[in-house]
Amino acid sequence: MRDVSLWRSLLGVEKTVIERVEFDEDAELLVAHVRPTKRQRDRCGVCGRRSPGYDPGGRRRWRALDLGTVCAVLEADAPRVACREHGVVVASVPWARHDAGHTYAFDETVAWLATQSSKSTVTQLMRIAWRTVGSIITRVWADVEATHDRLAGLRRIPSLSS
Ligand SMILES: [Zn+2]
Repeated sequence: MRDVSLWRSLLGVEKTVIERVEFDEDAELLVAHVRPTKRQRDRCGVCGRRSPGYDPGGRRRWRALDLGTVCAVLEADAPRVACREHGVVVASVPWARHDAGHTYAFDETVAWLATQSSKSTVTQLMRIAWRTVGSIITRVWADVEATHDRLAGLRRIPSLSS
């Protein structure tokens, strides 16, 4: 497909192969068929470790940011892998958090909007329920905390005194 990098930008995804994009006129829905790039495949959804395949799973959709007024989703296989530590889990995807139904770009936009605008603005603009806003904020915040912990760990490294 041509203009792949344009589609990647529009859909806000990285490390993702865009196989094709179609427009479902009845549903007014843009469906981008995607898959992780080779390096991103066969990784545990929890820890990201490369793991042997378990089964092909099924097709799944993730809500992406709207393109103008048109709703957009990514559609991809969601195979399962057998992680040494986490057992059989859905493989990680480079465009969304584990177990999330929305892309990173969607999550981040909702989390930011929730701090900047009213409840009705977020839910109407993003076309999601308030409950969904809550779970998105929870998972974005969990990531922020994980990052903070890593930085805190860095500070605990003894400084080199001369
Ligand atoms: Zn794992």
